[in-house]
Amino acid sequence: MLVLVLIVPLRVAIAAGWLLPEVPKGLAVLGVVFVGMLYVSFVAVSQLITDSVGARIAEEALSAQTSGANARLVHRATHDDLTGLANRALFHDTLEHQLARAHIGRTAVLYLDIDRFKVVNESLGHIQGDQLLHDVAERLRQSVRSEDLLARLGGDEFTVVAPGLDPGGAQRLGERIRTPLDAPFTIGGLRVVTTISVGIALSRTSTSALDLMHCADAALYEAKGARRNRVVLVDDSMRSSLSNRLKRENALRRALDNHEFEAWCQPLLDPNTREIVAVEALARW
Ligand code: GH3
Ligand code: MG
Repeated sequence: MLVLVLIVPLRVAIAAGWLLPEVPKGLAVLGVVFVGMLYVSFVAVSQLITDSVGARIAEEALSAQTSGANARLVHRATHDDLTGLANRALFHDTLEHQLARAHIGRTAVLYLDIDRFKVVNESLGHIQGDQLLHDVAERLRQSVRSEDLLARLGGDEFTVVAPGLDPGGAQRLGERIRTPLDAPFTIGGLRVVTTISVGIALSRTSTSALDLMHCADAALYEAKGARRNRVVLVDDSMRSSLSNRLKRENALRRALDNHEFEAWCQPLLDPNTREIVAVEALARW
């Protein structure tokens, strides 16, 4: 290529020198060689530019691909496959982050569980059960506020982290989430009626994420207890009985580990014959 670029202008110069006798031949040759060199430089520089732009484009495409793949990985690690909602890990991170921002007021955790969901699984099958979970998630998504985080913890359990609420606001949000689920769903062409129970706990100063979850779970237990399909906000008496129960449970576990229990047997006598008719076994601590 380079040889061609140099030879062709040289031949042209010679021809030009003959055709234009008034131009000195040497000057014509020099001029055309100069133009040839300019052309060669132009080709080399444009090749360099093309190469580097091409490399940049390839690099950018690769980095876009990599960051797209990373984003997909992060999304999969933080979301639930079935419903597309946040998963347990993202829920915990969000709750901890929210509690660390104490200045924004109290944070509510709403713990939701579908009532008698096993009946749906058992009567319609697991696939229809999955469909119901998916459709319930859609309805929940429409009920929460834009600042709330809705998550699926697993099974038929969902949670909401709701910032900036007082007890009244938390109760109203619970009802706003629960009520739309009363309307029937259509699953596999069948009309399915389901309800949801909601337990709510509100943060106080220095409440930990685990405490809050524990309280919301206790409130949910209470909501399920009597008649389901209702919202229960954990109150102070529930909180203290819960903390007493937790203390007792821990003390009992410790006592078991330390062999602090003793088995005592106590005879039961027939008052008439004064004979032993039974033995009562007692665990003493
Ligand atoms: P309760 O009113 O007391 O909540 O009764 P329940 O029948 O809803 O019982 P529970 O919440 O304890 O059971 C949830 C069931 O959800 C248990 C399990 O068989 C089922 N399950 C868990 N994960 C999935 C899932 O991914 N898909 C489906 N279809 N079912 C699931
Ligand atoms: Mg359930």
